[in-house]
This record gives sequence, structure tokens and C-alpha cells, in this order.
Amino acid sequence: MKLCMVGAGFSGAVIGRELAEAAHQVVIYDARHHVAGNCYTERDEETHVMTHVYGPHIFHTDDVEVWDYVNRFSTFKPFTNRVKSTVDGRVYSLPVNLHTINQFFSTALRPDEARAFIGAKADDSIKEPASFEEQALKFVGRDLYEAFFKGYTQKQWGCHPAALPASILKRLPVRFNYNDNYFFHRFQGMPEHGYTALVEGILDHPNIEVRLNTPFQRAMTGDYDHVFYSGPLDGYFDYSEGRLGYRTLDFERFIHDGDYQGCAVMNYGDESVPFTRITEHKHFSPWEQHHGSVCYREYSRACGPHDIPYYPIRMLDEKMMLARYMEKAKSTDGVTFVGRLGTYRYLDMDVTIREALDVARGFLCCRESGDTPPAFFTEPM
Ligand code: FAD
Ligand code: UDP
Repeated sequence: MKLCMVGAGFSGAVIGRELAEAAHQVVIYDARHHVAGNCYTERDEETHVMTHVYGPHIFHTDDVEVWDYVNRFSTFKPFTNRVKSTVDGRVYSLPVNLHTINQFFSTALRPDEARAFIGAKADDSIKEPASFEEQALKFVGRDLYEAFFKGYTQKQWGCHPAALPASILKRLPVRFNYNDNYFFHRFQGMPEHGYTALVEGILDHPNIEVRLNTPFQRAMTGDYDHVFYSGPLDGYFDYSEGRLGYRTLDFERFIHDGDYQGCAVMNYGDESVPFTRITEHKHFSPWEQHHGSVCYREYSRACGPHDIPYYPIRMLDEKMMLARYMEKAKSTDGVTFVGRLGTYRYLDMDVTIREALDVARGFLCCRESGDTPPAFFTEPM
């Protein structure tokens, strides 16, 4: 079969690889000049530091098969994400943990005492938190919410936390010990030579042809036996139902001689500071030595038609529009929509790879049984 992947990010690369290994011919298109999608890394020309061009990416997972999969294509170096937050001229530990609580309230509480202390501040009148704000007030109380979450979230999403779903905050834990690992997962690390080399390794198969700088047009669908589309779902249908809302990011690069901030990611909680965070890329490769340092100040704003879509907003209006696009997708023959843009969801890399493996296997099963492959292997809503 002659198969087409739109997008050479993790979705397109992993599905392409699986189908190439099953003896299919695969052509992969990407509109950009490079592979790896938003996980693309490159060496900064001036400092030679490995740089996460579209924002900081840390690989973490509980999925053993996915961890083994990525380790087939790259050596992973141990890396633990430890994020700090600057609020009102002081630096605190994230995610909110015993150190944060003791720093913030100038206390020396032990775990049980801190739990009781925060429990007394938390708003227990909120039974079923409906918004981000209610979720935060229920779990950490007003003081910590206003310091660490309110301003940051307003900047990140461009709206008041009371208007955002609770699910956004559920991604962040609160701990009553000194564990400042940002993630809960069993496996965490950084590909030694960056994500671009990792994705190039996945794509390195005689049955795969990669065409960079080549946007895929809908009219090309009929040239292939099946298309896997990891571009924007609304874009495939020429935005006929309107544009699905995204936040985009602007990165302001600057160079520093030495060590600028002492860690990879420093968040800024105050609303008066216009950026959300600063990434100092060399701290993602602590096994390398660099004197110079490259840093990105990160600003979030509404995504316009010519901007790169980063975070799907998924508010009520967008979900109604998404439902209309899903109907269109389901009545389109020969195309499966995949990945973060094709299904309009925030997906971590490990979930993207898990879903890509499942899509490829699902497709091969359909082929064997004679069933028509669905538009979505995972329903976006
Ligand atoms: P993408 O990487 O977006 O790839 C899609 C590709 O399709 C792009 O290269 C695009 O150019 C191409 N394309 C689109 N339309 C067309 C077309 N018509 N023709 C040709 N090509 C087209 N995940 C983690 O696990 N850990 C993290 O720390 C983490 N940090 C993140 C930080 C930020 C700021 C963001 C936004 C995301 C982060 N993620 C993180 C998520 C991660 O970026 C995604 O899981 C991953 O990029 C999804 O891969 P994908 O292939 O689905 O999409
Ligand atoms: N968040 C916050 N303050 C922080 C970090 C995160 O308010 O210092 C909120 C913000 O709304 C963000 C969400 O928590 O969108 C999820 O945080 P995470 O660090 O997982 O964001 P991502 O890696 O997706 O940018």
C-alpha cells in the first residue's frame, strides 16, 4: 500500500515507522524545513547549546512500551525537571511542596502540620470544582492560588482562571514533602543528542520517504491508499466551520555569559511581569559544558491565522466547533486524524507516541479484517 503521513512530528514519525516495518511504502510531508514538529531541537549557532526551539520539552512516562520505544532510537540521559517560580521578588520551589509552603509562610512545618495548615486555608465549601479557580481554592487556598496560579494562568490563557476548566490545574500536584520533581512518572529523561536526532532515527527506514518544505493539500488525498493527518483538523477543511482556538507563544532569545538563572525553567507568577517563564537551555544538557548560555523569555497570546498553534483552548465554543469538524472528518474517506493538531487536544509526547502505536496497529488490524479505518482511533471529545 502507498500511505501518506502529514506531519513529521512524533505522530507522523511513529505511525510511519510502524507501517514501514509492516512493508508499506510511506511518504511523509512536512511544511517546515525540519522533522520533529514542535519537539524540534537544534544547536544554537552562537553558544552551541542544544536548544528547544518551540519551548521546553522533558520526556516523562509511566508507559514501559513507550519508554523502551524511544530508547531504541536514542540514549536517554537522566534528567529530573525541577521548576522554580519567582513571585514578588522571591524564588520558590514548584510544584507546591513542603518547601514552597514553608518558604511562603515563613514557617518550619512538618508534613502533617502543613497538611492541616493548608487544609484550614482551603475552601471546603467547594465540593465539585467547576473552574480552575475553584479547583485551586479547594486544594491550596487563596494565598498560594493568588501567588503561584492566578497571574501565571491569566498570562498563559489570556482569561481569568474562573473562566477556565478545572482540568488544567489537575495536571499540577501539591505535595506535603520536599519532593520537587515536577512529574509523577516512573521514567524521565532527555535524549542525549536532542529530539531531532531521536525523530530522525525513527524515520530512518528504507520504506520511508520524507518530503520537507512541502505542505500537504487536501486535493492530494486521492494519490494515496490512506492518509494519516497530524496537521490542524480545521485546516484540513479550509476552516469552513471557523477557526479552533489556540494560544501561541513568542520566544525572546537572549544570550548570557555564564549561568543566567541556575535552572532550566523559571516561572514568573506575577501578572505584572509580561512573560510566563524563562528557559535556560543548557540546563537541559547538564552532561555538556558550555560557558555561554542561551535563554528564551516566553510570552503567550491568542493565536492568529499565521501563528503556530500551541495550546488548544477547548472552551465550550471550541468544543461545539470541534463537534462539527468531527462530523466532517467522519464522513471523509481515506483519512485518519491523529496527534495534537489532528485531534485538537493537549498531548504529552509519551501519550502522542502511545496513540501513534495504537493507530498503526489499529490500521493494520482493519486491513486484515477488511474494515474501513476510522477517522479517529481516539475520540477527541
Ligand atoms: P507536532 O509536533 O505539532 O507535529 C505536527 C507537524 O505537522 C508539524 O511539524 C507541522 O509542521 C506539520 N504540518 C501541519 N500541517 C501540515 C500540512 N498541511 N502539510 C505538511 N505538514 C503539516 N510534551 C511532553 O511530553 N513533555 C513536555 O515537556 C512538553 N512540553 C511542551 C511545551 C510546549 C510549549 C508545548 C506546546 C507542548 C509540549 N509538549 C510536551 C507536547 C509535545 O509538543 C507534543 O506531544 C508533540 O509535539 C505532539 O506531536 P505531533 O506529531 O502530534 O504534533
Ligand atoms: N500553572 C500556574 N503556575 C505555574 C505553572 C503552571 O498557574 O507556575 C498553571 C497554568 O495554567 C498552566 C497549568 O498550570 O497552563 C499547567 O501547568 P504545566 O506546567 O503543566 O504547563 P505546560 O507544561 O503545559 O506549559
